[in-house]
Amino acid sequence: MSKTFYEIVLEHFDEAAEKIHLDHDCRVLMRQPERELTVSVPVRMDDGHLEMFTGYRIQHSSSRGPCKGGIRYHQDVNLDEVKALATLMTWKCALVNIPYGGAKGGVKVDPTKLSERELVRLTRRYTVMILPIIGPRKDIPAPDINTNEDTMGWMMDTVSMLQGQTVLDMFTGKPISLGGSLGRREATGRGVMICTLGLLKKFRRDVASTTIAVQGFGNVGSVAADLLAKKGCKIVAVSDVTGGYYNPKGLNVAEMIEHANRHPFKILEGYEADGVSRISNEELLTLDVDALLPCAMERQIVKRNAQDVRAKFIVSGANGPVSKDGEDILHDKGAIIVPDILANSGGVIVSYFEWVQDIQVFFWNEDQINQQLERLMNEAFEHVWEHAEKDKISMRAAAYTIALRRVARAIQQRRIFP
Ligand code: NAD
Repeated sequence: MSKTFYEIVLEHFDEAAEKIHLDHDCRVLMRQPERELTVSVPVRMDDGHLEMFTGYRIQHSSSRGPCKGGIRYHQDVNLDEVKALATLMTWKCALVNIPYGGAKGGVKVDPTKLSERELVRLTRRYTVMILPIIGPRKDIPAPDINTNEDTMGWMMDTVSMLQGQTVLDMFTGKPISLGGSLGRREATGRGVMICTLGLLKKFRRDVASTTIAVQGFGNVGSVAADLLAKKGCKIVAVSDVTGGYYNPKGLNVAEMIEHANRHPFKILEGYEADGVSRISNEELLTLDVDALLPCAMERQIVKRNAQDVRAKFIVSGANGPVSKDGEDILHDKGAIIVPDILANSGGVIVSYFEWVQDIQVFFWNEDQINQQLERLMNEAFEHVWEHAEKDKISMRAAAYTIALRRVARAIQQRRIFP
């Protein structure tokens, strides 16, 4: 049987813990989430019948600060997946050195099957069900797959109505008019771009002759593809739930984004253009390109298909897109992988900026945000790169080493309560 997502995350953890000789107490504490909440979410559907959904909020660690992590709506959401994602958030926040621990939430639902009014009711009820454990100093949710600034706006309104005051600092990824931050929507994709360009620079590759394939055309993938195309890279393939779109001469990414934006679920269904052929998601992963950006779901490159991946550079925009055995195969082939906790950290970095702005009720301009994002990401990228070079280890191992050491230090300094 293939490993679960959480098992894969723990495998990476165990390997890094062994490498840095992490003490027994820290290992026990860091392997287990602090709090796991499962909730029932009853929703009155538009036709009058009642439907019951299951939701989760997992807080993996609050050692370095309030827990932080997104909320996912997807038919495959389950406890194992949310625990894995919450754990990754702890390492991510520690790696980029922002004062947060890790959390994640989700509801097992296919949002494309619900009307907007049903989605609002589901969101409001889920918010109330997790309310006892979230808060601006406890746990600050954000968007993830199939949730966006509208979802965060409904959550913020729910809490504000219950508290009788406008609460700005409890959710991030909100609309700009509700205390959201400029640059937040693009932040994760921008971070993927920063890492991709960082890698090309290290290998003295010419940006203009670089070919790229991007799996996933949502918040992360479409922005990464767009920004890299604007930097001069050739985006030869992208994909979403409707499959892949391939043009060896380069796709018109801006036109594809416009097309997706016209669809109620922001998908590429029906997109056609001269020179563009249809490929499967599986084919996209094995194209002969310089860089592959998996920006959709977890466990896309695994033992079964890793041998066929031809890209030299893999930048993990999604969380957990490469399994550990998949990664081992890629390393043996000489591929360089920017791990998820570094590659997609742009989102949580600008979420941190949003939270800081909301607390101060003082908002920055977009240049300031992008500059600060670039500074933090470049610092983390260089730190990981140097560490990997010095110890002759992968970027994943280096990133985990840095992150685990920081979390362990916080645990040791706080000591075990009581
Ligand atoms: P999204 O819902 O905006 O987009 C997901 C995209 O993936 C969509 O285009 C969807 O059609 C596509 N997709 C789904 N299943 C697919 C499949 N099997 N093959 C190809 N494409 C598929 O979600 P997002 O916010 O872009 O998140 C994508 C990934 O990035 C997730 O792993 C998420 O956890 C991670 N991430 C997101 C953020 C953020 O700020 N949104 C931050 C960090 C990490």
